[in-house]
Amino acid sequence: MSAAMSAVPLHYRTIAELAAALAAREVSAVELAQAVIARAAAVEPRVRAFNSADPADALAQAAASDARRAAGQARGPLDGIPIGFKDVIAVKDQPLTASSKMLANFVSPYDATVTARLKAAGAVLYGRLNCDEFAMGSSTENSAFHPTGNPWDVTRVPGGSSGGSAAALAAGEAIATLGSDTGGSIRQPAALCGVVGLKPTYGLVSRYGLIAYASSLDQIGPFTRTVEDNAIVLGAIAGHDERDSTSYRAEIPDYRRELAARRGPWKLGIPKEYFGAGLDPEIGAAVEQAIAFYKAQGCEIREVSLPHTQYCLDTYYIIATAEASSNLARYDGIRYGHRSADAKDIVDLYFKSRAEGFGAEVKRRIILGTYVLSSGYYDAYYLRAQKVRTLIRQDFLNAYKEVDALITPTSPIPAFKLGEKSDPLAMYLCDIYTIGVNLAGLPALSLPCGFTKSSLPIGVQLIGQPFKEADLLAIAQAYERGHDWKLRTPVL
Ligand code: GLN
Repeated sequence: MSAAMSAVPLHYRTIAELAAALAAREVSAVELAQAVIARAAAVEPRVRAFNSADPADALAQAAASDARRAAGQARGPLDGIPIGFKDVIAVKDQPLTASSKMLANFVSPYDATVTARLKAAGAVLYGRLNCDEFAMGSSTENSAFHPTGNPWDVTRVPGGSSGGSAAALAAGEAIATLGSDTGGSIRQPAALCGVVGLKPTYGLVSRYGLIAYASSLDQIGPFTRTVEDNAIVLGAIAGHDERDSTSYRAEIPDYRRELAARRGPWKLGIPKEYFGAGLDPEIGAAVEQAIAFYKAQGCEIREVSLPHTQYCLDTYYIIATAEASSNLARYDGIRYGHRSADAKDIVDLYFKSRAEGFGAEVKRRIILGTYVLSSGYYDAYYLRAQKVRTLIRQDFLNAYKEVDALITPTSPIPAFKLGEKSDPLAMYLCDIYTIGVNLAGLPALSLPCGFTKSSLPIGVQLIGQPFKEADLLAIAQAYERGHDWKLRTPVL
């Protein structure tokens, strides 16, 4: 069936399908942008995934894409594809708020590296997507502006912190989106919204132009409908950047081509610590079924142990808050961002600007982070956490002596009700299966693997070896090929 004849509306198609339809002139980039803009207009009152959007600008980008194509200068599979950005990634001359009052009126003077690369690939950048304030949270409820609804049930959260990115994609308001993942912020919302979300290996994707939360953990990555689409976007944004000193220097494979080249069977590890108390039984059962699928495909399944898993949450909340307290010191009301209108003197200006500009969770993290770095406590907390982090990474590297990748649940629970979790610790537990990956700097993705009885999406997490995204994506695609979860779309 040709793409033009497909029954799937344009706003729910994949990049691969749309790239073929654009190349065959069955659809124009302007028509595609119009479809996505119309869909957003129809569903945004309920989903509220966007902090801001500029339809006229998107249509102008789409017209430029059509003109390139007409001139025989189309740039590849992303030319003309609408992509939404989490509102922590800089796009020149567009708002960049981190969903914080602190940056409510800030407009970015420059492009992030990922932005420049997607522009160069011809993508149509549309939408600044809601998130937890400064990417701190697991439900997007910490946004200073408004909550976002999960498209599968708008009375529930989309996950976080990149909740707007996951929700916009699941609702058909974008063809792909970008998020950032410091402790699970791409994978957990991907799981809760039923889409594919990848956190690349630390260093694979430049952090230049990403608002810093915890710099030793932050990575930008794609949300897509399929694994192949994820390979396409990753290929466009990955690669060395001299503006990020932690950027990896190596040849970037053609991830999409590698997908076809890599066939299992693989050795897959099941970390026993990831299947204990607190795991929702329906999620546990769906992940067990995914494991059984791989086994039936001839993969060798082995139980492995990551013995330091129990320390992940504590270690993360020491290191992440320490780095956040330092990164967020720059918001002083002087250079940019919110400035208090009624300060008596300079010190009062610092205090009042920060007190007014930051929300409760951000303040909690700054206070905790400042404490663990302060003299007398540094050795007991921060230094010890760094040592435990090394042990956590070593656990994974030991497991990889035996297996190619690991399978775990992404989130212990499906999408919960807006307002349901008021205790910060209960919220922190949402990341129990995702934060170890950030501490160890590994690549991992969440892939749809079923639905609960009440029709909420379930995600399985695949954790790969450093810089082996090509293998990770191939392992994910082997599962995706045998299932059709991706064909379901929410009723909105
Ligand atoms: N929920 C975690 C936190 O609040 C992870 C957030 C993220 O990955 N940005 O720190």
